Amino acid sequence: MLNIILFGPPGSGKGTQSDLIVEKYKLKHLSTGDILRDEIKKESELGKIAETYITQGNLVPDKMIIDILLNKIDNDQNDYNGIILDGFPRTLVQAEALEEILNKHNKKISVLIEINIDDEALIERVLTRGKTSGRADDNIETMKKRLNIYKTQSTPACEFYKKLNKYAAIDGLGTIDEVFGRISTIIDSKL
Ligand code: AMP
Repeated sequence: MLNIILFGPPGSGKGTQSDLIVEKYKLKHLSTGDILRDEIKKESELGKIAETYITQGNLVPDKMIIDILLNKIDNDQNDYNGIILDGFPRTLVQAEALEEILNKHNKKISVLIEINIDDEALIERVLTRGKTSGRADDNIETMKKRLNIYKTQSTPACEFYKKLNKYAAIDGLGTIDEVFGRISTIIDSKL
């Protein structure tokens, strides 16, 4: 089984790269951002609560997001070679909970891949994306807050996997194919 965490700041290309990884390695894609946006669209209770956090650029509370993931990982995954987690874990508490969930299912993370890009490039990308994405959080104020939250709250999740020797980093600048090539090299080394 190949269980991968794709980690990186907002605008680093996690969604785009996840799609390519899913296709090449036949993994199940779990994007907590996509799940939450879907709930917002459906106007579910969960969606209504999540929206108040997302539009402010804040993280949704750990418990809420862990419950969502518990449910998704519980579901049968026999049709896949593993999972790709995109946008989760984003805090140390989430990383610890993930380890617990996976342990229960006799699964483990193969590697966390961090996509590194400097803030200026990220801000430019997200503002460009905002013109067409319709995402309420793709604007300059929210983006600055999200970057700050990434550094303060999400980096500890990354450190957690560094300590487990399950960490790899790649340069996120370049074409989609170039970045995917770097990611593929790391994944291939885990096969
Ligand atoms: P994303 O599409 O991954 O950038 O996620 C969009 C927004 O959804 C984030 O800015 C958070 O508000 C929320 N979100 C997504 N994943 C998580 C998570 N693992 N923990 C907390 N909030 C999350």
